[in-house]
Amino acid sequence: MDTNNFAFRHIGIGEKDIPSMLEAIQVQSLDELIEKTIPGNIRLKSLLDLPAPMTERELGEHIADLASKNEVFTSYIGRGWYDTVVPPVVQRNILENPVWYTSYTPYQAEVSQGRLEALFNFQTVISDLTGLPLSNCSLLDEATAGAEAVLLLQNERSRPKAKAGANKVLVDKNIFDSTIDVIRTRALPQGIEVVVDDYTNFEFAEDVFGVILQYPNARGEVIDYSALVSKAHEADVKVAVAADLMSLVMLTPPGEWGADVVFGTAQRFGTPMYFGGPSAGYMSCRMEYKRTIPGRIIGLSKDRNGRPAYRLALQTREQHIKRERATSNICTAQALLATMSGFYAAYHGPEGLKQIARRIHSLASVAAEELKKLGLKIRYANFFDTLFVELPEGVSQADIRQIAEDCRVNFYYTPCGNVMMSIDETTLSGDIGVILYIFASALGKESTFNGGIDETVVSVDKQFLRKSGFLTNDVFNRYHTETEMMRYMKRLERKDISLTHSMISLGSCTMKLNAASEVIPLSNPAFCNIHPYAPKDQVEGTMEMLENLMKYLGVITGLPAVSLQPNSGAAGEYAGLRTIRAYHDARGNTERTKVILPASAHGTNPASAAQCGYEPVIVKSDENGNVDINDFMSKTEEYKNQIAAMMITYPSTHGIFETNILDLCKRIHECGGFVYMDGANMNAQVGLTNPGFIGADVCHLNLHKTFAIPHGGGGPGSGPICATEELAPYMPTHRNWEGELPDDHNVVAASPYGSAGVDVVSYAYIRLLGAEGLMQATKIAILNANYMMSKFKDTYGIVYTGATGRVGHELILDCRYLKDRSGVDENDISKRLMDYGYHAPTLSFPVHGTLMIEPTESESKEELDRFCDVMLKIWDEIQEVKEGKADKEDNVLKNAPHPQYEVAADEWSHSYPRSKAAFPMGFLNDNKFWINVARVDNGYGDRNLVPTYTCCTITPSEN
Ligand SMILES: *Cc1c(COP(=O)(O)O)cnc(C)c1O
Repeated sequence: MDTNNFAFRHIGIGEKDIPSMLEAIQVQSLDELIEKTIPGNIRLKSLLDLPAPMTERELGEHIADLASKNEVFTSYIGRGWYDTVVPPVVQRNILENPVWYTSYTPYQAEVSQGRLEALFNFQTVISDLTGLPLSNCSLLDEATAGAEAVLLLQNERSRPKAKAGANKVLVDKNIFDSTIDVIRTRALPQGIEVVVDDYTNFEFAEDVFGVILQYPNARGEVIDYSALVSKAHEADVKVAVAADLMSLVMLTPPGEWGADVVFGTAQRFGTPMYFGGPSAGYMSCRMEYKRTIPGRIIGLSKDRNGRPAYRLALQTREQHIKRERATSNICTAQALLATMSGFYAAYHGPEGLKQIARRIHSLASVAAEELKKLGLKIRYANFFDTLFVELPEGVSQADIRQIAEDCRVNFYYTPCGNVMMSIDETTLSGDIGVILYIFASALGKESTFNGGIDETVVSVDKQFLRKSGFLTNDVFNRYHTETEMMRYMKRLERKDISLTHSMISLGSCTMKLNAASEVIPLSNPAFCNIHPYAPKDQVEGTMEMLENLMKYLGVITGLPAVSLQPNSGAAGEYAGLRTIRAYHDARGNTERTKVILPASAHGTNPASAAQCGYEPVIVKSDENGNVDINDFMSKTEEYKNQIAAMMITYPSTHGIFETNILDLCKRIHECGGFVYMDGANMNAQVGLTNPGFIGADVCHLNLHKTFAIPHGGGGPGSGPICATEELAPYMPTHRNWEGELPDDHNVVAASPYGSAGVDVVSYAYIRLLGAEGLMQATKIAILNANYMMSKFKDTYGIVYTGATGRVGHELILDCRYLKDRSGVDENDISKRLMDYGYHAPTLSFPVHGTLMIEPTESESKEELDRFCDVMLKIWDEIQEVKEGKADKEDNVLKNAPHPQYEVAADEWSHSYPRSKAAFPMGFLNDNKFWINVARVDNGYGDRNLVPTYTCCTITPSEN
């Protein structure tokens, strides 16, 4: 036992635990278990070639060393990223608080009321500021939100437009390059023609279905688009507008001048720039689009007793149900960042936000006046925070840049030879002095700026000023002191189950430890406060870290070409398929349009295939849960020359290492297709086998599952893709900050390295564990699943076991026959687990009527045993119902969860005592998680969707 070795801290099972676990599963050694679980022909023969593990202390020093290689300049680059002040109360209580960052996506509403309310706050902020009634609770970033907006407009075409085959979207040339690039990438496979032009040239012909504008535009100009919007609407064309959230505090929001959709990023609402991500993308729209708006929506609903309760609404339109007919493939989004932005708005309130926006605007206005005094021309008179400075004859960008960099300042240098700057919340009057010094020096003049800033200056034309109020609800007007805000956050936090309470055994989601030393770098200013377009020589530390990470991921997957750009697993799926498509397109293989998909695939797989313009061909599972080989052979024969790819998860979503995986890959290659491996189950592979070795050509990794990035209540995620050298030339690219872009570009995120900011967590994870630790983690994950199987095989029963009677790193409990015999179903079991302080396993995926458990390597034997004891106790409770010892309706399962208000009420009318409801096992006396709502009514919210405070009269719950 070496307590300095991080593996000892990360892996929950110690040497002393292993013998009894091996005995329970009846093998002699851990290696024997692995040999019996993973087919011999795919097992790696040697250790991964990775650096030796660091201790946590060494990692801390290494991170400090990397940080010291970054140069944090004052950024006025703008273009979607602005420096911001993360309120310390938000940093300490949300970003750095494991209750908030380790919780799962709030599918189990009763133990997620805190983050549901926080995200409901975010939706209200977006809806109020943009002036449209419906908002989702985050998207990945501004550029992908733009692409989603185009697809939404296409889906919402009027009947005549759809009939006429309208396929053109007109995009104003003055929107951010990254947004245009992602729109192009995503529109192409949908047959959408993207026409980029000056908006003044727009003609609304019959084949045009949508218009995309930006406000203020990419050059900082505020333009009155209302006449254009009316014209578009008259021609039955819909309008989506990218908008800067901070500007909407001051300017009339697009929803009020007719926009149908508004999208953008909430980054400057209190989340760091993080070298490009993560931060919360947003989208709001008309209420009519509620079935096509992508992403998740929180609705205010009711619990079974009629008390207000939040829950995810409109789940039926998600890809889990709709699969290839889903309007979007987005699954993991940016929950933690949206939560932070919502609290930022609540902390400042409407008056505080007005003060911030006004100060930004007045500082920019003063800077503009003073620059004019130096003889410079500011091209656009109407701006919010961004100045377009024309350089006179004789002064070059290089002149300005040299002085600016000497002053540790970054501007945006336009391709047309001018200079732009965006003022932000952190700018002080002294900073304006530095800006003026830079320009004055380049001109050989002296600025007369005396440092005085009149914060009431409004230079933008009065016609643009916002008249409507916003954030009028109580929640935005009472938590302005730190004490009040801290307590509000704590009140919400207490309603949520996270990894700080108990194991979260969600199959396929890999809710493992997110170690403190891995997440601490997320607060390091040398990583946080870096703009994604900062010059390369200022980001050497970050680049060294990212390049090493890419190298390690290449080694771990056996696929050497790596792109970190995708912001989530589903974004990775799309990026991987897009890479395959680009390869086929380059060879004129346009007939290859089919994607072979096992029936058990995650919903994002068929949705991503459809987004890429591909048609899924579904292959059945056999009775053992494997790919049905006869069906597979006949489908691959039938579509032989049309196969673009197969998408496969390994071990399968049934948790089994299929033995014929090599043959499946070989067959697809024979047909001329590529193998795409969904990397969600990498936690069963790392160090023991890998996608490249198995024969995959490209895979994505969910760094927020296998590689320890915290789940954040539904994001951030990071979904890099790894591919063979053959596919490398077709991987995602990005316009680098000089504005160059290869011709066959393939851009899937706003920033070059996607969610670069959180990738440091995975980097730290790999450095801390090293090759041996990573392999041991995989072995223990498999040990734990097989140990749990031994506990449940004689009660619930296991749906699928592999050829040797083993499971991989997860197991599926059968609950399908319970209902007939007792009336109890898998949902009742999930709710009853809450009374015991546990979050439910994965419900009804990939097999309906089951629970899928993935223990991960991080749990201790004691915790595994406690969870098993609870599940077995629930089994006994089910038997009581079945045997008639408990009432068919009024029993602890059907009434679960039992909220505090019910247990403590004067009246108690159930057929069993309070103690049985709330304290059914002894350990609960020491560690009770109190639930504050009864079972949430799943029908209520969808019929009467309430997505923001503004469209109803409720005040947030006080309990
Ligand atoms: C989680 C998961 C995905 C999607 O990943 P996101 O990051 O949520 O987009 C895809 N496939 C499988 C099997 C998964 O478990």
